[in-house]
Amino acid sequence: MKDVKITARVTGVRDDIVTLRLEKDEKGNFYPLIKNEVVYICPSRVPQDNRQEYLQAEVLRVRHGEADVQVFENTRGVAVGDPIRQSGQMLSVTLGPGLLGQVYDGLQNPLEIIAGQHGFFLPRGLQVDGIDTQKQWAFQPTVKAGTRLKAGDPVGHVQEGRFKHKIMVPFNQVGEVEVTWIQEGTFTTTTPIARFKDSKGKEHELTMQQKWPVRIPVCQPLLAQRYSQREYPEQPLLTSIRLIDTFFPIAKGGTACIPGPFGAGKTVLQGLISRFSDVDIVIIVACGERAGEVVETITEFPALPDPKGGTLMDRTIIICNTSSMPVAAREASIYTGITLSEYYRQMGYNALLIADSTSRWAQAMRETSGRLEEIPGEEAFPAYLDSSVKSLYERAGLIRNNEGEQGSLTLIGTVSPAGGNFEEPVTQSTLRTVKTFLGLSADRAYKRAYPAVDPLISWSRYLEQLSGWYNEHLDAQWVDDVKQMQGLLTQGEDIQQMMQVTGEEGVTLQDFLTYNRAQCLDQVYLQQDAFDDVDASTDMSRQMRIFRLLKRCLFEHPNMDDKDTIREHFTKLAGFFRNLNYSHEDGPDFRRYWKEIHNLNHFQLLDGTFAEE
Ligand code: ADP
Repeated sequence: MKDVKITARVTGVRDDIVTLRLEKDEKGNFYPLIKNEVVYICPSRVPQDNRQEYLQAEVLRVRHGEADVQVFENTRGVAVGDPIRQSGQMLSVTLGPGLLGQVYDGLQNPLEIIAGQHGFFLPRGLQVDGIDTQKQWAFQPTVKAGTRLKAGDPVGHVQEGRFKHKIMVPFNQVGEVEVTWIQEGTFTTTTPIARFKDSKGKEHELTMQQKWPVRIPVCQPLLAQRYSQREYPEQPLLTSIRLIDTFFPIAKGGTACIPGPFGAGKTVLQGLISRFSDVDIVIIVACGERAGEVVETITEFPALPDPKGGTLMDRTIIICNTSSMPVAAREASIYTGITLSEYYRQMGYNALLIADSTSRWAQAMRETSGRLEEIPGEEAFPAYLDSSVKSLYERAGLIRNNEGEQGSLTLIGTVSPAGGNFEEPVTQSTLRTVKTFLGLSADRAYKRAYPAVDPLISWSRYLEQLSGWYNEHLDAQWVDDVKQMQGLLTQGEDIQQMMQVTGEEGVTLQDFLTYNRAQCLDQVYLQQDAFDDVDASTDMSRQMRIFRLLKRCLFEHPNMDDKDTIREHFTKLAGFFRNLNYSHEDGPDFRRYWKEIHNLNHFQLLDGTFAEE
């Protein structure tokens, strides 16, 4: 501590909010301190091992000569008068090769390394490098001395697992620079690999890692200078879950929200989405759930086989905080996750961020706001809740990077409304922001109708927005057909309500038929068995094939003039379709059930491949 200037001292402590008094310099002015700067509190009371602790904190509010900071650690033993060390930096993460496969806490401390060195509890006031600075990477330059570059331009790459990891000029570099020297070879991420000269003639050294402040989008300076462009999402993120891809699509680079009452299958659904979605990189932020659930995520997840080969963990980063960690760290974890996702998007990859749950993040914000004695809004959430939720989801999107490659960041946030009440502020703000809503329902879970997404309350604004893609890749009728089937589900529900009162006899034959069609659609198309190897994932071409056949079956079946016949017919039909769902598309079973379905409906087998049978 001797050589570091003390620029402020503690004047008050209230849980994890600490108030500081700035010191004055020789001229009698307060030392400058900016909002969101990271400072370290140095408790004068040292632990038994005599180690000086540095408690990391972020400046929330600065007033004349005073500041409030939120501390990412327990503030036990912090005393009035304790000195503050300023970092001059905003809360940042380290970007570079070696991020994939890591499990971090909300401040990018690698949990495995900490567990190896210190057991399961991170000693207070300790920070560990976010990426392994000892590990060597084979760097392959793609530019030469003399090349002129700007922020975000790649200078070369290393191979990170199965991905080409681009090393880019720091995103905050101003103006054009000229490479003066660059070397090929195997280096650590802190070894200079290149030097460049900026427009003022100043030389800079480039390593394979750079720091980036988490509260600022990685792409922000690049978009501002038009080096990269934001584009409108135009492709679906294919999850291989029929209910999502067909009925409630999510765009690549889009946003979605999954609210989930406990036990409704949120964890299984998230696992399916991370595993089967057509994205390159998956980032999971497990923010503030109970410790047991987080342990579940980090032990089960790495073991999941990846349909693309290897294990899922090879292309995943997990960030987790349990509710026992300080709220400030919980709040930061979502920004850490989003920044890492943006970094890979900037390289031209498709990244998927699953934030579970944003309610905990909002609650952390509420606690902090309460301690700062800000004027509360609805249910004591800060008045800026809505804009915070918006600016979080706005970081998702499709980007054309400096090299003209598209990269996407799709953000799926879960919310956990207390008591399943969707009227509460966090769910409401989220619903106003996202474009897909997959409403998990305890009722459907209870009936074991998985995925327990209620098709009557769920919606997607992307169905229309992506119609160009559907026209080109499926057929021009797609969106209308899907809407027709959605209408059928609503009608079916109305009739079911009626039948609960009047019994089956109380409805007309036509209504009974409609009800059976809707039931069949639900059972064989919306419901999908996550634990069957084949049914767990249905690619889009198979979805279209099944959807077309099913639609035909629901509306072009033989005439039936009594309820028993109708019931019997649809029970058989549903049975065949379910078996079809369990069969490999190129296997004999698939053909068999395909044929059975045609026979049942007196359809001609038009499909050439099956015609000879
Ligand atoms: P939550 O995370 O919402 O508490 P889980 O995702 O752990 O709930 O799901 C609870 C149980 O429901 C699972 O153990 C599983 O038996 C069943 N389940 C959930 N989703 C599916 C699915 N898509 N297919 C089959 N079973 C499911």
